[in-house]
Amino acid sequence: MEKRYYQPEIETMPVEEIKKMQSEKLVKQVRHVYENMPYYRNLMDEKGVTPDDIKGIEDLHKLPFLTKADLRDAYPYGLLAKPLDECVRIQSTSGTTGKRVVAFYTQHDVDLWEDCCARALVAVGGSEKDVCQVAYGYGLFTGGPGLNGGSHKVGCLTLPMSSGNTERQIQFMMDLEATILCCTPSYAAYIGESLKERGYKPTDNKLKAGIFGAEPWTEEMRRSIEESLGIKAYDIYGLTETSGPGVSFECEEQTGMHINEDHFLAEIIDPDTGEVLPEGEKGELVFTSLDKEAFPLLRYRTRDICVLSRKKCSCGRTLIKMAKPMGRSDDMLIIRGVNVFPSQIETVLLNEGYSPNYQIIVDRANNTDTFDINVELNPEQFTDTVSGISAMEKKLAEAMKTMLGINPAIHLVAPKSITRSEGKAVRVIDKRKLI
Ligand code: ADP
Ligand code: ZN
Repeated sequence: MEKRYYQPEIETMPVEEIKKMQSEKLVKQVRHVYENMPYYRNLMDEKGVTPDDIKGIEDLHKLPFLTKADLRDAYPYGLLAKPLDECVRIQSTSGTTGKRVVAFYTQHDVDLWEDCCARALVAVGGSEKDVCQVAYGYGLFTGGPGLNGGSHKVGCLTLPMSSGNTERQIQFMMDLEATILCCTPSYAAYIGESLKERGYKPTDNKLKAGIFGAEPWTEEMRRSIEESLGIKAYDIYGLTETSGPGVSFECEEQTGMHINEDHFLAEIIDPDTGEVLPEGEKGELVFTSLDKEAFPLLRYRTRDICVLSRKKCSCGRTLIKMAKPMGRSDDMLIIRGVNVFPSQIETVLLNEGYSPNYQIIVDRANNTDTFDINVELNPEQFTDTVSGISAMEKKLAEAMKTMLGINPAIHLVAPKSITRSEGKAVRVIDKRKLI
């Protein structure tokens, strides 16, 4: 792929210059927040930090953290740092882990967010020659509006499909010759499956690339989507609290996502102690927004677990990279004392030749945790005999045991019996939480 950038002066800026730029922006941003966001001013006062103490990024660790609990506390206007008259947009989280929070944007904030998404599109080869099908949900969810704005900035012909109505997605994808698809990875897998059911081969569509994010997905899932759609599948990351998708994006190397460091300053901390960890160590990702005016969160704890790396990238971008997040610290299940991430289960399933359609059910009986995984059979596996099925269940349970360290009860279920996702997939039902 020809090397191209949307904003080359930023994307390939020498690291020392990026850091200098971040320092200057941070000093200004802390002042803006201190003066205009009483909620955070109180946190700074409690910690005994003043804007004068922050002279550059080396002082970042002095600032207090913000958490999702703060956002819920301050709902709806407590973290607003601009008069509502100057705001032009509200978006909201998907509410995956509880009460939704709302975020505000000035026109400047919308612009910088859309620029970030435009960088992601150009990184996958997007240009004015492309037809970009945006199948993320539109509305309060940031996926649709973010990629829609980025697609316009790049000059792609934008197909604002939103999520759902898979029949129409496929019809427009084929008739209007979409070349780039943007949606959640679970929906991309569903679209791939639906194309196959309708008799299409992966080479029948005109798609060349997909930008998939908003939920954790594994390398195995990437390969499966790439095969079923005949494309290159790229990751994109973001969260409503920092604007939406586009905080980081993958380049042709497909080895992690470049963080848009001119706008977002990233740290990795130990989730238990809050201590900042050196580059290369795994921990919780924390973002400080350097340019946003209306909702400028400082040291926001994402709860996403990942690793940062400054290793030189062959694409020429100098922006730091983050690994695929394994999932949120609160996606991690503790079952019989063992830490289990749904992404580990997905890896085993795809490696063993199963579909990425599964559901994890955790409950408690007789004071111990029960751990069940429903896994859908592929149509060609379904014809097997009952004894064949139980042998398959046993083999899969053993593979899970090797990966996870504990033994789940595997239930192979009929094709199509697990509900498909058009947005973020719901993989876990933890009944222990309902007690
Ligand atoms: P909610 O927190 O309600 O899900 P958002 O829609 O803002 O609200 O989702 C942001 C979260 O989605 C991130 O904090 C992260 O956990 C997850 N996420 C987004 N993109 C990715 C990605 N590429 N890989 C893994 N997780 C992702
Ligand atoms: Zn790169």
